[in-house]
Amino acid sequence: MQQYFVNHKLAIGMEFDMTSEQARHISTVLRMKEGKIIRLVDIDASTFYGSIMLIKNGVRVRVTDSIVEERESRIKITLAMALIKGERWDWLLEKATECGVSKIVPFTSARCIVKDKPDSSLKKLTRYRKIMTEAAEQSYRHNIPEIVEPILLKQLKDLKSEANFVAYEKDSGNYLTRFDNNVSSATIVIGPEGGFENDEIEYLINQGFTSVSLGKRIFRAETAAIAACIMLDAIGERHD
Ligand code: SAH
Repeated sequence: MQQYFVNHKLAIGMEFDMTSEQARHISTVLRMKEGKIIRLVDIDASTFYGSIMLIKNGVRVRVTDSIVEERESRIKITLAMALIKGERWDWLLEKATECGVSKIVPFTSARCIVKDKPDSSLKKLTRYRKIMTEAAEQSYRHNIPEIVEPILLKQLKDLKSEANFVAYEKDSGNYLTRFDNNVSSATIVIGPEGGFENDEIEYLINQGFTSVSLGKRIFRAETAAIAACIMLDAIGERHD
């Protein structure tokens, strides 16, 4: 069943028109028939079922039922991710959203190949938000994660959560999965393709980030990010 986010409040019995982009998706891309049921998430992250009506130049929806369910991760995950190249970056945004991340903070560090702050334009951020919105709809999330403009590694100290980690492949044995603290938020920092320089790791450790291993093998940066998000989500599920 297709889910859509709407940017206003919903209530059972209410009727409203989908945006023109959503209407086009419903009628032209998915070719839904009159009466088809869709999932709706409103501005307060409340979830509903709605029944569609095909009207002239658009799609109207009647809100039929509310849905009570839990989809969000127990740990509010901030993913600080060194910038990586184009396609891999888009893949990361989609998968991190599916894995329940709350916020993505791109940053640049010494060994980043993507240097020239290419992702700082509003146009790029808008495109990123579209990828994340679609992934959030696909995974039935109640929130679209936040993404911000790229920052420098030195600024990561301002993004701390209750628990703070930097993924470091040379830190054998100190596995993230062994972390067992009942925290409600965590920041995980992932380095670029070329990894971190020693002084960068030292700096982050001095700023209160714990260096952790994600396992015995070396992941590509984007795989490391997804593995870390899944691990943190699973750690959150240990506590209720
Ligand atoms: N040092 C290597 C690999 C970098 S992998 C190189 O020079 O090519 C890119 C990033 O993924 C790393 O900076 C780290 O944050 C993360 N990473 C990958 N595998 C990891 C592992 N097994 N444990 C912890 N972090 C890992």
